[in-house]
Amino acid sequence: MFRDWTPRKILAIPFSALLISGIIDSSAACDCHDCCCRDQNAVTVREASPWRIAESPNFQVWSLTTVREAERVARQCECLRTKLTATWNPEASRWKPWCQVVLHAGIASYRRAVGAGADITLGSSLVTPLQGVVKARRIDLQADVDDVLTAALPHELFHVVIADRFRSSPPPLWFDEGVAIQYDVESKRRLHERDVQVALAAGTAFTIDELIAVDSYPPVDRWSAFYGQSGAFVRWLFANRTPEEVIGFARDSRSQGVRLALARYYPGRAKPNVDLAWRREGPPLTTPLPPTWALPSADVALLVKDE
Ligand SMILES: [Zn+2]
Repeated sequence: MFRDWTPRKILAIPFSALLISGIIDSSAACDCHDCCCRDQNAVTVREASPWRIAESPNFQVWSLTTVREAERVARQCECLRTKLTATWNPEASRWKPWCQVVLHAGIASYRRAVGAGADITLGSSLVTPLQGVVKARRIDLQADVDDVLTAALPHELFHVVIADRFRSSPPPLWFDEGVAIQYDVESKRRLHERDVQVALAAGTAFTIDELIAVDSYPPVDRWSAFYGQSGAFVRWLFANRTPEEVIGFARDSRSQGVRLALARYYPGRAKPNVDLAWRREGPPLTTPLPPTWALPSADVALLVKDE
């Protein structure tokens, strides 16, 4: 069993601030094509006390608050999945089994569900087994914070989406986390960027070889450097490359080594220089993603928990 974590590094956006700024518009559900989030018939809801359950083509959302929250989260999940699969797995078929999304009302319930790591995270995802046909997909979210759907859901959903592309072995950890970080909110990416600078200044940063060799989560005292560097390295890899090329580099760098992967996907970039180049040339993690990669902007609309 393998669980991913979204570290609790959240600068929560006060709900009242969203209302004042006028960001919330429940009519602006999604701007992506081929998405079922606007289809009134795409989501069914039912109650199984104490749970409210919403079921959509690819998700089953469990909420302890209201049917409306469960339904809105299901639509948001579909919307995000549409966008993420278009970028990272265009040939994705409907998920069977669907992805269960459990909205925990507080830390106690969340801790019981995800175990170790609950106290320092807001979200967690699980895809089992690690290889072969997927038998279960699940995302647990701590739902008692205002921005959980933007802070943790896109990140965790990326992990679930990309798992479909790596069924012979899990995706490299630096790649899995490095791309997921790109979908974190800007305030959180700013903290990751700071962590990179701290690690570089302190001399505790990973070399590229070390980063790519990481196959399990490092000790907690190196989490900050690992997450930040993974995100920064992926951002450098993004430059002028397609998602398929970045996936190809991730696969080949593990199976054939960094030197050969660079020669194939980044010709002209000599490995000895990459350790320096990714920091000098990579845009900061705070810069927006290219528009074609960005997720739907109306996701904050779904933070409205009830009417
Ligand atoms: Zn993650």
